[in-house]
Amino acid sequence: MRSDQSSERKEGLQKTAESLSSLAEEIRSCTRCPLAQGRTKAVPGEGPDRAEIFFVGEAPGRDEDLTGRPFVGRAGSVLDRCLDEAGIDRSEVFITSVVKCRPPGNRRPKKDEVEMCRPYLESQIELVQPKVVCLMGNAATRVVLDMEGVTELRGKVFREIFLVTFHPAAVLRNRNLKEAFVSDLLAARKKAEEER
Ligand code: SF4
Repeated sequence: MRSDQSSERKEGLQKTAESLSSLAEEIRSCTRCPLAQGRTKAVPGEGPDRAEIFFVGEAPGRDEDLTGRPFVGRAGSVLDRCLDEAGIDRSEVFITSVVKCRPPGNRRPKKDEVEMCRPYLESQIELVQPKVVCLMGNAATRVVLDMEGVTELRGKVFREIFLVTFHPAAVLRNRNLKEAFVSDLLAARKKAEEER
């Protein structure tokens, strides 16, 4: 790579990092939807500026709300274990959710809350430019693809980049789903490697 190309790339990455962190700051102080009222901390998501694999869950739960970090509760432990089994390093992937603030009593996010929060997710995907986006569960699949039915859709890739899989909380409730979940993670890893 020529040195002017290399410095352009460095500049691009720096801008991405700045934009991602300013987006995260905006999310932390966001009051666009009613979920702002009940949260302890908003959870923007975390991961490298240019992660190859990007994960989208539904919403923060109690542990995430307290820490401001995504997938740190029991479902997070399932995700960690399954990432490990698939040979994926959590520190190398970007993890976020459809809404960034915890719905009261862990209820499903409402349609208007999802719509108010959607631009943040879209901007994050645009900035990170992942090679594969894993939509974990029905909420993420509905918001991004406008499709329902994870059981039938899982393991399939849509619009070349979106791979549907189970939500780790579903795997926590039903251990029989674990094998399929890990196999979807492996498929995500393979897809990311093939597109390098
Ligand atoms: S859920 Fe999203 S739109 Fe609603 S307050 Fe939190 S960051 Fe803002």
